[in-house]
Amino acid sequence: MIRGLVIALALIVAPSALGQGWNSPGQPAYRDPPQVITTEHQWGHPLLNRVASAFASRPVSIKCRPEIDDSVLSWAYGYVYYPTYQQKWATLENLVCFGALAIKSDTPDITDWNKAIGVAVLIHESYHLRRYKDVTASSIEAATECRAMGHYDIGLLKLGANQTELARLMPVLLNFHLRLVSNHSQYYTQCALPDRYWRFLDPFGPDPNETSSR
Ligand SMILES: [Zn+2]
Repeated sequence: MIRGLVIALALIVAPSALGQGWNSPGQPAYRDPPQVITTEHQWGHPLLNRVASAFASRPVSIKCRPEIDDSVLSWAYGYVYYPTYQQKWATLENLVCFGALAIKSDTPDITDWNKAIGVAVLIHESYHLRRYKDVTASSIEAATECRAMGHYDIGLLKLGANQTELARLMPVLLNFHLRLVSNHSQYYTQCALPDRYWRFLDPFGPDPNETSSR
């Protein structure tokens, strides 16, 4: 982690069972990228800017760039310059932007793994941009990832997911989070899942003998 330069979200390798289109940084996550990011959007698609600003609690922008144009993006999905509270934007790799923007249409051209990366990274980097009373709070990776994980469902809904898509993508997003914190110790935190998440993870539905509510 290059703390003095950027606060970045590390790349992780997609599980082969989930990521048919993207298994290493060298392989694109999309077969036919939608024409949703144009030159006029290089400083942010309106929807991404709006969602990022909501999580950052101030007006911020999302800059979408191809990996080839930005050396940091060869090892990170996205980043914010340091000190984070002074910055006005986060930079995301194009595949992250494509994934986040594919939520609303739920296009099959973008894998669910790519969609999950889009949502998870967008929220994570947006929380880096949030100003806390403790100015160092937004630059602590584990705390930032905990905040992001706790808002995956809200991020999905803000990006246009319906309930069916929410139920399908939440386990994928939590898979992403688990892999991130397992493979990169700086993101690890003893961060409990919100109670409302359990309904997305129980394949058998609610336990009829269970008295406590989830
Ligand atoms: Zn980070």
